[in-house]
Amino acid sequence: MSKNEELREKLFYDPKHGCKVMDEAEIAAADDFAEGYKKFMTACKVEREVVEYVADLAAANGFVAFDSKAQYKPGDKVIYNNRGKAVILAVIGQKPVEEGVRIAAAHIDSPRLDLKPNPLYEDAELALFKTHYYGGIKKYQWTAIPLALHGVIVKADGTTVKVNVGEDAGDPKFVVTDLLPHLAADQMKRTLAEGIKGEELNILVGSRPFKDDEGSESVKLNIMSILNEKYGIVESDFLSAELEVVPAFGADDIGFDRSLIGAYGHDDRVCAYPSVMAILDAGTPEYTALTVLADKEETGSEGNTGLDSAYMAYFISDLARMQGGVGSIAMSNSQCLSADVNAAFDPTFAGVLERRNAAFANKGIVVTKYTGARGKSGTSDASAEFMGKIRRLFNENGVIWQVGELGKVDEGGGGTVAKYVAYHNIDVVDVGVPVLSMHAPYEVISKIDLYMAYKGFLTFFTK
Ligand code: MN
Ligand code: MN
Repeated sequence: MSKNEELREKLFYDPKHGCKVMDEAEIAAADDFAEGYKKFMTACKVEREVVEYVADLAAANGFVAFDSKAQYKPGDKVIYNNRGKAVILAVIGQKPVEEGVRIAAAHIDSPRLDLKPNPLYEDAELALFKTHYYGGIKKYQWTAIPLALHGVIVKADGTTVKVNVGEDAGDPKFVVTDLLPHLAADQMKRTLAEGIKGEELNILVGSRPFKDDEGSESVKLNIMSILNEKYGIVESDFLSAELEVVPAFGADDIGFDRSLIGAYGHDDRVCAYPSVMAILDAGTPEYTALTVLADKEETGSEGNTGLDSAYMAYFISDLARMQGGVGSIAMSNSQCLSADVNAAFDPTFAGVLERRNAAFANKGIVVTKYTGARGKSGTSDASAEFMGKIRRLFNENGVIWQVGELGKVDEGGGGTVAKYVAYHNIDVVDVGVPVLSMHAPYEVISKIDLYMAYKGFLTFFTK
């Protein structure tokens, strides 16, 4: 290395591709970690399924249901299940909770199509479901792809039935139809945002009339009759249901070199999964460790399963109180990695990102100091001190990381749970995996970045 090269290396910020920094064994470990992740992604498409999966995994690893009347000792592992749609895993640390906890907070909801409360109708002898999209989607991306139906229906008698159709081999799938190009001259003149409108996101669910029926809506009658046979439901049971339509495809390797993974809903299960794996591997940490998997981030974190709710604060307060401590002091001493994705630089759409402050696939986890829009509005801007702490922690423990901003100034923007965590006087910064095609039905991430998320969360919990 020449003197100038040495100087450049010493003085410039130049994040490197993971393959140039990691040894072969660690790259193999990353590839191995990705196999478990792909299974998880194929098995869990919606928040309730993630909660069930994580609850089972946690139980198998010694976690027991949280009891607010109990007394816990260091090393105890508890799970708090919030309405089957959000969950907190905690490992009690050696220090009193009042001295602060370490939180990794990811979300487990993803953009999708939700059924309307009264969804089923028939038109032109086709049966369809009306939907109301959930989260920020480009609506045109949801037509003409295979879809599956997930969720629960609470029947009139109070019993609940689970629905999961379109995932198993041999299952029927569903689809939103689109207009043939031959007749789309007018549609093609619409803006991309209006190419498919919200009320055009109708799901095709059947086309055969009920046998020997001459009455009206006999295709709808046939579908209701099938649903009644399978689930014991009548049409009004849709009124008390949460039915979510998601892409029917699983997670797969992308690329000849298998370096990437394509799947629905990396945002934000690509942070949820490694944050769960990290807490399972955290042993008995110095500080109590929490993995928080929240719902409703994609619609603004509102509602009692989202992080703009007090449930996480109540949980930490309960842990502190059990030890004779005070919840507000515990939270004021706490630190959080808001584990969420950021945009990965896409050379095809380079114009919207500012290269020097964009995240790149394979350069490790992206630390996002602030999100927001229009002059940093609506964000928790992490302090230099907390950025400094996280930076030292990652650098000293071989966690490959980079900084990233969500797009050029005034190009758009977004938000995460960070500001709702900051509300409780907790130090917080966004740390997650860069994603290509974020919020599309099929998103792409790098295996190296996924593994660095695991390593980053584990380091945060244990170092
Ligand atoms: Mn997200
Ligand atoms: Mn999102």
